[in-house]
Amino acid sequence: MRAVITFCDKGPQTPFPPFSAGLFPCKRARDLHEGAMTDQAVETQHISDRPTWPALAKGFRRKCPRCGKGPLLFNYLKVHDTCGDCGQEFFHHRADDGPAYLTILLVGHLMAPALHVTFVQWRPEPLTLFLIFAVGCLALSLYLLPRLKGAVVAYQWARRMHGFGQAD
Ligand SMILES: [Zn+2]
Repeated sequence: MRAVITFCDKGPQTPFPPFSAGLFPCKRARDLHEGAMTDQAVETQHISDRPTWPALAKGFRRKCPRCGKGPLLFNYLKVHDTCGDCGQEFFHHRADDGPAYLTILLVGHLMAPALHVTFVQWRPEPLTLFLIFAVGCLALSLYLLPRLKGAVVAYQWARRMHGFGQAD
């Protein structure tokens, strides 16, 4: 039985098994056999690292996740199109309902146990309890919402989601 080797451009050349004897029809055939193919190395584009946690911290401070200096938001919740300091584009963000969801999640999990403990420990007047927790929930929500929006946009930037994938 004869196997035809067609590695080279010269067409069918050498029958099997010259490999086992260390004889190869051409250099490429030998490289293939020895796993020494180096000419197929893929040229990868250099993409700089974007650490997630520092970006989240900058976003929570409502600053640009890239430089940490330029403001990320204006008019409470509006996201700037670009960073005024480093020029980073922000209009790619898709925060959508994420910040509101996270705000409800955090405020609920903080205030519900606090409500329970307050009621069991001190039994305040119902109106007093309502006023304290209504104001507390509102204040905490208004405090967290823009900060969590900054963190969500920063997370999308750090993970190169949506349009944030361009090279720095
Ligand atoms: Zn910036």
